[in-house]
This record gives sequence, structure tokens and C-alpha cells, in this order.
Amino acid sequence: MFNLILFGPPGSGKGTQSEKLIVRYGLKHLSTGDLLRSEISRQTALGMEAKNFMDKGQLVPDEVVIGMISSALDENPGAKGFLFDGFPRTSAQAEALDKLLDLKKTAIGVMLALDVSEEELVKRLLKRGETSGRTDDNNELVIRARITEYRNKTEAVADYYRQFDKVVMVKGEGSIDEIFEGLCKEIDNRI
Ligand code: AMP
Repeated sequence: MFNLILFGPPGSGKGTQSEKLIVRYGLKHLSTGDLLRSEISRQTALGMEAKNFMDKGQLVPDEVVIGMISSALDENPGAKGFLFDGFPRTSAQAEALDKLLDLKKTAIGVMLALDVSEEELVKRLLKRGETSGRTDDNNELVIRARITEYRNKTEAVADYYRQFDKVVMVKGEGSIDEIFEGLCKEIDNRI
């Protein structure tokens, strides 16, 4: 089993690259943002609680997302491996993920961290907001709040994996295919 985390700030291309990576490597894509948006569209209690945070660009409480990931792991017993996208976003989530994977006798193989300048992130997110239908993409204040949450709470997650020598920075600017090849090269070195 090979599990990887695709890491980076909002707008760094995690969703786009995940779609391509799961096809090439046969991994199961677990995006907490997608799972939360699905809960919102089904108007579940979890979705309604999460929406209050998401609309403000704030992180949803750890226990909510950890519970979702735990269920998703249980629901996919035959997976060849998981690609975590947008998770973990806090050190507490990272520790919980390690424990969940440990119970399944597996672990994170590598964290690939997409490197993109802040100017480019805001530009991409505003552009995505024109077509994505995501309310958190078409308001610059919410975008800035999401980037602030990333700097304050999420960046430290890379330090958590760095202590186990699992972090690789990958250039996140350029064409979609160039970035994809950069990611594949790192995976192929480790798989
Ligand atoms: P994303 O689709 O990854 O950009 O996530 C959209 C929003 O969902 C974020 O701004 C957070 O409010 C929430 N969210 C997604 N993943 C997480 C997570 N792992 N922890 C907390 N909140 C999350």
C-alpha cells in the first residue's frame, strides 16, 4: 500500500493534480473539502455545522474531519493506497491520521508539498471563483482568511512530517502537465 499527502495552500493545485495522480497510480482520492461539500449539498447536520466555518474561510473542527476520514478509510478496505488532499490541516489531524493508518498496518509514504507564491494563489482562486460555484472562492476576504488559516495552523503539518523525513517540495507553478511530471518523478523514486 502506498499512501501520500498532497500538501499546499488553497489554490496550489491539489485538486487538479489529485485527479491526475489517482488515475496514474490507482489510488483512492480522499479530499476533506469534497467530502464536506457533499455533506453540505445533502444538507446533513455535519454539513450544516461545517458550512458556518467554511463560509468564513476557517478550518472545520478537528473531530469532524478526523471522523470523516476514519469512516472513509473503513469504507475502502481494498484500496491500493490513499491520496490525502486537504488533509491533514492541523498537527492534531496529522497525529490522528498516523494512528488510524497504524491500526491498518500502513503509513504515509511521502508528503508532496506544492510551492506557489501568494500572489499567484489569490489570482488562481479568484479565477476559479468565476466558474467553480464555490462561495469561498469569489470573495477576496474569505480567500485571504483561508491563506491565513493555512499559515497559522496548516504549515506546521509539514514540520510534523519533516521529523520523519517524509516531505518533498515540488514546484507548483508552470503548466499542469509540468507540475504533474514533477510530482510523478518524486513518487516513482519512492514507490
Ligand atoms: P478545500 O476544498 O480543501 O479548499 O477546503 C475548503 C474548506 O473546507 C476549508 O476552507 C475548510 O473550511 C474546510 N476543510 C477542508 N478540509 C479541512 C480539514 N482537513 N480540516 C479543517 N477544515 C477543512
